[in-house]
Amino acid sequence: MAPEREAVRCANCDRDLSLHERHVRVTLIEDDFGDAARRYLCNESCLNEWVGETERSER
Ligand SMILES: [Zn+2]
Repeated sequence: MAPEREAVRCANCDRDLSLHERHVRVTLIEDDFGDAARRYLCNESCLNEWVGETERSER
């Protein structure tokens, strides 16, 4: 058990981010579960793409 070495993947492009120091961490509050879901993204452009895709696919 080594929590600090959990696999980290970009939610947008699925790139392995565990080797990179620079990434964007996003914490989402999911109302359905009342829980905070953490997502990781390469950078702001991946974040913007991912948010756009998420909104489009859910609506
Ligand atoms: Zn990415």
